[in-house]
Amino acid sequence: MLYKKYEEILGLRWPVEYAHSFSAPTFGIDTDPFLKKYKVILCNLISVDNKKFESSVVHELIHAFLAERIDPAFAGYYYHIVNSVNMSAEQKTTRINKLYLSWAHVDIWVDELLNKFFPNPMVEENELYVNTLRKMANHRPEELRLPIFYVPIAIHMAVASRSKTERGNLSPVFRALGGELTDLVNKLSDFYTSLHSLSFNRKNDLLLLEESVQTSALIQKFDFVPQLLEEQNSNIPIMRWHI
Ligand SMILES: [Zn+2]
Repeated sequence: MLYKKYEEILGLRWPVEYAHSFSAPTFGIDTDPFLKKYKVILCNLISVDNKKFESSVVHELIHAFLAERIDPAFAGYYYHIVNSVNMSAEQKTTRINKLYLSWAHVDIWVDELLNKFFPNPMVEENELYVNTLRKMANHRPEELRLPIFYVPIAIHMAVASRSKTERGNLSPVFRALGGELTDLVNKLSDFYTSLHSLSFNRKNDLLLLEESVQTSALIQKFDFVPQLLEEQNSNIPIMRWHI
C-alpha cells in the first residue's frame, strides 16, 4: 500500500483505513478518538496508485499525527450547539459550517509539518490548485465567492508566505472575488501567517487553537464565539466546541 510508509515515518499507532468517495469534493479524514482509528477519504480525483495527489493524502495523515501527539481536536471538530432548541435545521447547519470555516486554518500547521517532514512535495499540487482557481475565476466566478472556496485561498496564501514558496499568480482570482472579499481573504491570510507554530505541549497548543479559531470567527464576522471545552465521554476526555 502506497501510504503505509508514511504511516510508519509519522509513527502512527492508530490504524488507518482508506476509502474512495465519488461524492467527496476534497480529501479528508474521519478521526474516531473513542475507537482510536482513522478513515482517510480519497476523493474521486485519485486512484490508489496515483502519485499526483500523494501529498494530499500525507496531509491527512499529518492530521492523524497531530491527533496522537497533541489532541484529536487537530484532526476533526466535535461540537455541541448551545441553545439549539429554537433553532431550525438550517440554522444549525449554518452554525456548524461556520465552525468549520473558523477551524480550517489547522491546515496551516499541518502543511508546515508536511513541508518539514517531506520537503517540496507540494509543488505540483499547488500548481494544479492555482490553475483550478484561475479556471474557476474565468468560468464560475460566483463559486469562488463562497467561503468554502475563498477561506482555503487565504490558507494557501499563508502557507506560501510562511514557507517562502511561490503562491502562483492569483490576480484573476482577486478580480473574480472583488474588492471586499479580497480584503477579507488578505486579512485572514495575514492572520494565518502570524500564527505561532505548534509547541507540542497539549495545553498550550489547545489554547492556541481555541484563540485562533475565535479570532478567525471574529474576522469573518460570525455571530457567535466558539469555545473549546473538555468533556468526559465514555470515560475518554474529549475536546468539544460549544457553538
Ligand atoms: Zn487538512
